[in-house]
Amino acid sequence: MAETTTLIIGAGPAGLTAALELVRRGARVTVLEKLDKVGGLARTEFYKGYRFDIGGHRFYTKVGEVEALWRQMLGADFRRTRRLSRIYYRHHFFNYPLEPLDALMKLGLWESLRIGLSYLKAKLTPHRPDETFEQWVTHRFGARLYETFFKSYTEKVWGIPCHKIRADWAAQRIKGLSLRTAVVNAVFGTNNTKSLIQEFDYPPLGPGMMWERFQQTIEAAGSEVRLRTETVKLAHDGRRVTRLTTRREGEATEMAADHFISTMPLPELIAALDPPPPAHVLAAARGLKHRDFILVGLIVNRAELFPDNWLYVHSPDVTVGRIQNFKNWSAAMVPDPRKTSLGMEYFCTRGDALWGRTDAELVALAKADLARLGLAEPDEVEDGAVIRQLDAYPVYDADYHRHLETLRDYLLGFENLQTIGRSGLHRYNNQDHSMLTGMLAARNIAGGRHDVWSVNTERSYYEEFSAKDGARGPQP
Ligand SMILES: Cc1cc2nc3c(=O)[nH]c(=O)nc-3n(C[C@H](O)[C@H](O)[C@H](O)COP(=O)(O)OP(=O)(O)OC[C@H]3O[C@@H](n4cnc5c(N)ncnc54)[C@H](O)[C@@H]3O)c2cc1C
Repeated sequence: MAETTTLIIGAGPAGLTAALELVRRGARVTVLEKLDKVGGLARTEFYKGYRFDIGGHRFYTKVGEVEALWRQMLGADFRRTRRLSRIYYRHHFFNYPLEPLDALMKLGLWESLRIGLSYLKAKLTPHRPDETFEQWVTHRFGARLYETFFKSYTEKVWGIPCHKIRADWAAQRIKGLSLRTAVVNAVFGTNNTKSLIQEFDYPPLGPGMMWERFQQTIEAAGSEVRLRTETVKLAHDGRRVTRLTTRREGEATEMAADHFISTMPLPELIAALDPPPPAHVLAAARGLKHRDFILVGLIVNRAELFPDNWLYVHSPDVTVGRIQNFKNWSAAMVPDPRKTSLGMEYFCTRGDALWGRTDAELVALAKADLARLGLAEPDEVEDGAVIRQLDAYPVYDADYHRHLETLRDYLLGFENLQTIGRSGLHRYNNQDHSMLTGMLAARNIAGGRHDVWSVNTERSYYEEFSAKDGARGPQP
């Protein structure tokens, strides 16, 4: 490949994978990252020797090329970890995947009977369309099970009622699960369902370790990963991006390149284009929503708290949505084996009451939630740190699809700009599919014709999927 220059916005999994693929093909790349470390949502934060993921990050994929790349990068440092996670609801911990006997004992005979009858009713009712999350789940599991195990947690995550969430999200995340399969899984110990993965890989020092290895490999090949460098403007002539402006410690710098790849959230990318796109494109960008996220890391003065990697907290009487126990992911995440570090996860939206709380208030809330759940007393918590993460979850609301099509059509009009990754495509992708879009974008620069927008999180969980298969119709 003749030497070309590429500027990549964002050093998350997608941007770093695109960079690695390009440098391996002899291209020169500069990755521009606004934070002080690589990894994006999959970075590992560090506080007084304790390591925290932005939500625990499992490495699991059916994309052969991604799996091979992970192993190549980390080798023996990539460790197989067993998953244990339970649901906390109505003062009980329910095994997850749900086990009929366990659920029966904790819910009681009467409630279990009502769930069974409501399931039968759903099964006997003729097929109805699934437009919303609520319909998707109720039609498959019955209204009672939906109310018990899906509604409260899902509404905590998304901050909107389940009848306003598109069925796409359920189809992407919990497809393949049915009450019948849950029973079969419980009896025979089998599991073919993607949300119930029982084992995964994990780097001993958290997912950030993987992305730091990518950074080192890119830099060793003579390309650059520039941290604390925010992209604020992309100048264009309607057909090509001509220059990009970054800001680093208050100083603006203009850069030119042959190709541009962006992993920044689509609304921000559209707002950074100069001259601005047409009004309908700006309106579509404003219509795409993200859900934000706060992680309160707590250091608890106790060696063992609970055996799970994480707990889902469905109970509406506490605000916390999920609790990570990092030493159960890897002992090396915690510097002192007599202590436990927890990641108390709060789903929120910038500007709301939760987002507006001070760090001290958030630590106090996390301690109170922990005590209310009976997991630890407030005076056992010896320290806490708050990590705020914007744009953690692309929201699939009633209008997102329409807005996304408008943005896709507009962006495909550029010859030398590709958007990739989770926020770059506004798709609920895990690391593997975010990386796959990075591989395809790099191959497009090398002359390929892959449609990154067609990378479908759905397909590859069931099929061996190689990046070659992502090839579709024309892509400029
Ligand atoms: C709570 C949570 C749990 C998750 N758990 C898992 C899991 O278990 N397994 C899994 O595989 N995946 C998981 N994911 C998904 C995974 O984090 C993403 O798929 C992946 O990080 C997306 O990579 P990306 O490069 O597309 O985007 P990001 O990780 O978002 O990276 C984008 C990067 O661009 C930078 N950036 C943005 N704007 C600019 C700008 N203007 N200038 C410069 N830099 C900019 C950002 O700082 C960021 O570093 C989880 C996500 C969340 C939120």
